[in-house]
Formats: sequence, C-alpha cells, structure tokens
Amino acid sequence: MLTVSKLRRYAFCPLLLYLDETLHLEPEPSYEQWYGRVGHCIRYELSLRNHKVLREVKDPKISLSGLNTLFLIELENIKQEVPFIYKDELLALTDVEIMLEQAAKEISLELEGLARRARSVIRETCLLGDELAGALTPWKAEFPIRSKKLGLSGRLDKIEKRDGRLIPVEIKTGRPAPYVWDSDKLQLAAYAMLLEERFDVSVPYGFVEYTRINEKRPVIIDGKSRRDLLALKKEVEEFLESGEKPMVERNKNKCRKCGFKGVCSAD
Ligand code: SF4
Repeated sequence: MLTVSKLRRYAFCPLLLYLDETLHLEPEPSYEQWYGRVGHCIRYELSLRNHKVLREVKDPKISLSGLNTLFLIELENIKQEVPFIYKDELLALTDVEIMLEQAAKEISLELEGLARRARSVIRETCLLGDELAGALTPWKAEFPIRSKKLGLSGRLDKIEKRDGRLIPVEIKTGRPAPYVWDSDKLQLAAYAMLLEERFDVSVPYGFVEYTRINEKRPVIIDGKSRRDLLALKKEVEEFLESGEKPMVERNKNKCRKCGFKGVCSAD
C-alpha cells in the first residue's frame, strides 16, 4: 500500500523519493530549513489547538486584544511542548530553544489575523464557546485513513464539514508560492478519493491552508485530478519496483528548500 506522502514527494521531485526511499539517504537541512521545520511544528500545533482556544470564549463583548491574548497563551504552551511532541523530528537540532523563541515571536504576529476572524464571526453570528469553535475549526484533525481498493493510506491534516459535505484540508506552513503546487493538488485529490471511499460521499473540492498568510486556496477535485492521481500512483509503484534513478532537472524554487540539495546530482 502506498502512502499519500510518497505520492506527493514523487510529484514534487522523483529524485527526492529516489534518494530517500531507494538510497536511504538522510536529508541535511540548512539553518533556514531547520527554522522552517520548527515554525512548521508550532503552526501545525496551533492549527490543531484553535478549537480548544475558541471553546474558552464565552463573552460576546470580548475584544480583539482579549482574543489575541488567548491565542498567545496557547502559543506559549506550544513553545514549551514542541520539543517533547516533535522529539524525533528535532533530534539533530542543537539550538532548538533559540529557534523556538524566534519562530514563536514571528508567529505571534500572525495570530492577530486569527483573532480578527474569530471576532468577526462572534459579531456576525453571536456564536460562543463550543458553537464558535465548531464554526471555525475542523470536524476532524490528523485523521488516519486507508483504502484497500485504492491501495492508498495517509493522514489528513483536517476535515471540515461545509453544507453537509466533507472537505479535506492540507496545512502548509512554509512560505507560499503564488499558486498551489501540482504535488499539493494531487495530495488533495488522493485524500478526497480516500474520503469518498470511506464515507460513501462525493468530495468535489478541498483546500490548501497556508498558515503564514492565514489563507485557504480551493482545489477542485474533478475527473482529470482523479485520473492524474491514479496514473501517478501507477507510475510511483513502477518507479519503486524498478529502483532506477530518475532523470530530473533542477528547479530553483524546489531545490532551494530541499534537504538533499547538498548531495543531489541533478543537472
Ligand atoms: S535538490 Fe532539487 S532535484 Fe535534487 S532531489 Fe531536491 S528537489 Fe529534487
């Protein structure tokens, strides 16, 4: 059974999957990449814990700064807990506390956007506590899913419920490109198809959520994306079976943030 993560990595760069899965090389993150990883851990945790923060909101007159303070308190908790939760991922990082401090400072500036969104929902709908949290946060988070029929497994960052529909949401914590990467579109198509299989529903779209800019970009799941996903799955299976090195050209936008750039022999 293939994981959705392997499909996404292959779609991003086949050589990356080769170095990782076939040669079993370990990526060597640069300082910026480590910083990105630490930021990812914090943003990811925040995204999962917003529900808890919003449930505490019981006062309809709560100010923007009051909401912001609730998020900042959670950010402080996350800062303390990240080294324990992400022990394995951050094992090789020596100055984790310093990076956590810097990343948390940067992220605290982004939290005002979240507080503003919550404030406007309270004003428009008068929802508070659990109802407010329900309106602003996912139905499920970190949801494991697999399908024998599709031969795929994965873990969805979030599933939202909108108008009775299930909507897959993929969280991206890095600096967003002006467009959605094809590899991220394929990842969402895979999750949509897995959700359809599991819950016997139709999933016509999903979102890529960019936590740095507090923006969700929609991705339509149509016949083409399903066809592309199945073709990609076949290609990755054949690639892993063959063990052959794929020919790829460097792409400065992709290679810049790749942990294998120091050992990669692509042209
Ligand atoms: S450095 Fe570039 S070409 Fe090499 S594996 Fe990474 S993304 Fe692919």
